Amino acid sequence: MTAGKLIIISAPSGSGKSTIINEVIKDESLKLEFSISATTRPPRRGETDGVNYYFMTPDEFKAAIAADEFAEYQEVYEGRFYGTLKREIERINEEGKNVVLDIDVLGGINVKKMYGNHALAIFIKPPSIDILRHRLLSRGTDSIEEIERRVSKAEFELGYADQYDQQVVNDVLRVAIDETHDIIRDFVNQ
Ligand code: 5GP
Repeated sequence: MTAGKLIIISAPSGSGKSTIINEVIKDESLKLEFSISATTRPPRRGETDGVNYYFMTPDEFKAAIAADEFAEYQEVYEGRFYGTLKREIERINEEGKNVVLDIDVLGGINVKKMYGNHALAIFIKPPSIDILRHRLLSRGTDSIEEIERRVSKAEFELGYADQYDQQVVNDVLRVAIDETHDIIRDFVNQ
């Protein structure tokens, strides 16, 4: 098995992406490790710097862009920047592991272009926009305005799904986990 591959996972917020990937990552034989992104958005309750994200001020983020420290970055929401640090990918590769990137569609498509067959891009879809809205509401972590922003973003993101190598519909969670697991296992064992 070759380590050092990249697995890109993109999905509209609330598609169950984190739950799915957190389950698959438990399979130690796949040697998967999350790339921790940098972001200018404030931490949510329970989030820790250096664990969920490297939380940066806008000035720190700009300085990292200027110093060419990002493999990719995007303004995912207005005024909210997210980026993959080159040193994070290097750190995981040096550990002999495969990198999991949980990044937005534009970042995902860019990384896929950069890494070609070395990267696998998976898009996780909600069964519908209505179901997505309900899931975001029941998660209870964001305001109504934030949820509506995420729903319109989701509609935009779904338009890019067919540019991904694989698409998984998260209707029944267990099925989506197994499907994603199979896709990733096939790729890392190639
Ligand atoms: P959240 O604020 O819910 O943690 O993340 C919002 C979005 O930012 C998600 O769609 C996530 O995939 C995306 N994101 C997180 N990190 C990165 C990154 O490093 N680069 C890009 N392009 N998107 C990211």
